[in-house]
Amino acid sequence: MSITLPLIQRPLISYRGRFAPSPSGLLHFGSLVTALASYLDAKHQNGTWLVRIEDIDPPREQRGATHYILKTLEAYGMYWDEDILYQSQQTELYNDVLGYLAEQKLSYRCNCTRADIKSLGGIYQGHCKDLAITDKNSSIRLLNSTEIYQYTDIIQGNVKCDKALAAEDFTLFRKDGLFAYQLAVVVDDIYQGISHIIRGCDLLEPTARQLSFFDTTGCQPPQYGHVPLVVTPQGYKLSKQNKASAIDTKKPQKTLLQALNFLGQSPPKELISSSVDYIMQWAIKHWSTDKVARKNQIMLTNR
Ligand code: GLU
Ligand code: ZN
Repeated sequence: MSITLPLIQRPLISYRGRFAPSPSGLLHFGSLVTALASYLDAKHQNGTWLVRIEDIDPPREQRGATHYILKTLEAYGMYWDEDILYQSQQTELYNDVLGYLAEQKLSYRCNCTRADIKSLGGIYQGHCKDLAITDKNSSIRLLNSTEIYQYTDIIQGNVKCDKALAAEDFTLFRKDGLFAYQLAVVVDDIYQGISHIIRGCDLLEPTARQLSFFDTTGCQPPQYGHVPLVVTPQGYKLSKQNKASAIDTKKPQKTLLQALNFLGQSPPKELISSSVDYIMQWAIKHWSTDKVARKNQIMLTNR
């Protein structure tokens, strides 16, 4: 069934990509790599590249992070083409979409705790589906009617998803009163007419859910491409949580070339003495997703 949400999707005829960081910390090498991949893919195809700040989880946000992320993008020659969208400004739209889904019986309220779900094997089994819960202190789940088990990824090829995860009625609104990532990300990708999403492999699995949600809305999904995650020699993802060090904005050339190498683009060594804008021009011209490794993660060695 295809429905019309209170959300008009623009036709996805031109390339529109985006980088959508959460301001939970500073930009580190891993997030630089994903920003760069989405930027180069957009610019190589003469597309529009947007920045969206995913600030819907205040307890996890760090003061000043947004400002620093934007300054870093500029220092690395990545300039966004339209006004930045802040998810914290999208509350009305998210509520409209939730209201609409409830009205259409495409979602339901659930008051299971994390512990309840864990005791049932960790995957939510639709326990509250027919309970008609109205308590406002409950979460809201999508009635998942299109289970996506696999999809074609621009970089990773055929991606298979865990069946139980794919079939789960996942959360759109959290019990603690916050909008869930899955809701906000899909609503805004529709709202902004995003045609291509290039991001890190940590989001390979959630993509299946996002595709299910797109199907529920009747809107055309974007194409997805996932670049390998940067992991530490111990196998941990570089993340804001494990305090990966912020990247240098004073002399970005070296880090930029490392990021390009990480993405398999093999930039000529001489570029080290060129300006950032010149390196970026080279990178845009020579960008190819075929050169990016078809791996979920790559270890970061000598930086
Ligand atoms: N905001 C998410 C993050 O920083 C990424 C969202 C996305 O690219 O879909 O992990
Ligand atoms: Zn429940």
